[in-house]
Amino acid sequence: MAELDLYASLKKYFGFSQFKGLQEEVIRSILAGNNTFVVMPTGGGKSLCYQLPALMQEGTSIVVSPLIALMKNQVDVLRSLSSEEGIAHVLNSSLNKTEVKRVKSDIANGITKLLYVAPESLTKEEYVEFLSGQKISFLAIDEAHCISEWGHDFRPEYRNLKSIIQRIGDNIPIIGLTATATPKVQEDILKNLSMPDANTFKASFNRPNLYYEIRPKTKNVDADIIRFVKQNEGKSGIIYCLSRKRVEQLAQALQVNGIKAVPYHAGLDSKTRVRHQDMFLMEDVDVVVATIAFGMGIDKPDVRFVIHNDIPKSIESYYQETGRAGRDGGEGHCLAFYSYKDIEKLEKFMSGKPVAEQEIGHALLQEVVAYAETSISRRKFILHYFGEEYDNATGEGGMMDDNMRHPKKQIEAQNEAKQ
Ligand code: ADP
Ligand code: MG
Repeated sequence: MAELDLYASLKKYFGFSQFKGLQEEVIRSILAGNNTFVVMPTGGGKSLCYQLPALMQEGTSIVVSPLIALMKNQVDVLRSLSSEEGIAHVLNSSLNKTEVKRVKSDIANGITKLLYVAPESLTKEEYVEFLSGQKISFLAIDEAHCISEWGHDFRPEYRNLKSIIQRIGDNIPIIGLTATATPKVQEDILKNLSMPDANTFKASFNRPNLYYEIRPKTKNVDADIIRFVKQNEGKSGIIYCLSRKRVEQLAQALQVNGIKAVPYHAGLDSKTRVRHQDMFLMEDVDVVVATIAFGMGIDKPDVRFVIHNDIPKSIESYYQETGRAGRDGGEGHCLAFYSYKDIEKLEKFMSGKPVAEQEIGHALLQEVVAYAETSISRRKFILHYFGEEYDNATGEGGMMDDNMRHPKKQIEAQNEAKQ
């Protein structure tokens, strides 16, 4: 592949003149026909890693993604970049016969470069048969952590992708992409796809501009949160709570104290949810108090703080949720309130689940406990959890957490937490 082609294509299709992070290396690996594994934090630019080589190569790439809404969105974007509507298609159960025919003929005619499929649709005999007669450039598996039971979003259908793609064609390269950085999940993915030798690209998960802080959760948590928000008046922030009830109650407490805040959770009707989300994005309000239903796909670059009223159930969730602060590279304060009682509550929630799931849930929670009670650098802890070596003396953001700025002894940290 000529040097010029890669940059010319980047410009031509996406209008960018530079690659982000490891994109170029990843794309070269894919264009060379190698199995490739990509680990990059959310917002790192994973989509382009498979979209560009798909557009540059002959044949159709199959893209598996768990969310229909996300697939539709990507297809719309790709169509807007091209004069050819058939350049990208979604194949799923909502298509009628005529639509399926159109998709098939576009693929057969070499027009379609990206075919988005939900994993359950790909198992359909009719599609497997059709695709096995076509020229397929590669299979991209987005959100590849869905393969692993240790991932935060396990989907059994994802585990059959390898055998399906083998039926579609011999030696079709596979590209797995995920933002889940734990070594265990990564191992699982590579094993399930039987590609131990895949070219692996891992971006750093360090977010040097985020300040991590844990405070003991007491009866005065409302007052503590209100004080913090008032000290940060006019700044945008998200406050995560475990339950809808707590969301409503805390949003009210903030409002009563003169803070512009709205609640957000799945119990509100969709009109209200959209309205509250827009109010936050348009800065009609400063704070959104939410369950984890809020955040997926929301890209507000200047969120200045993320508060956890309740500690999340895994380090992955904590990293994802705190990661919504400081996207623009500016200040991002991540404050979590922690009490061991909340851990017990989370354990209790799991007690109805299958034993295997409980065991995994318990192990993930123990890591959260260790994180909350640690006296070492929180940044070091998080990055170590994600399999990354980090040295506070030389790494970026070395002093950006409470333990580094106000060192205390381990025992103190634990006692505080047990109060
Ligand atoms: P991820 O899937 O890793 O979370 P996305 O693929 O959604 O990330 O990309 C995040 C954002 O980065 C998108 O808005 C995308 O347009 C932008 N982006 C990707 N590659 C580049 C690039 N080379 N230059 C500038 N912006 C980019
Ligand atoms: Mg993505």
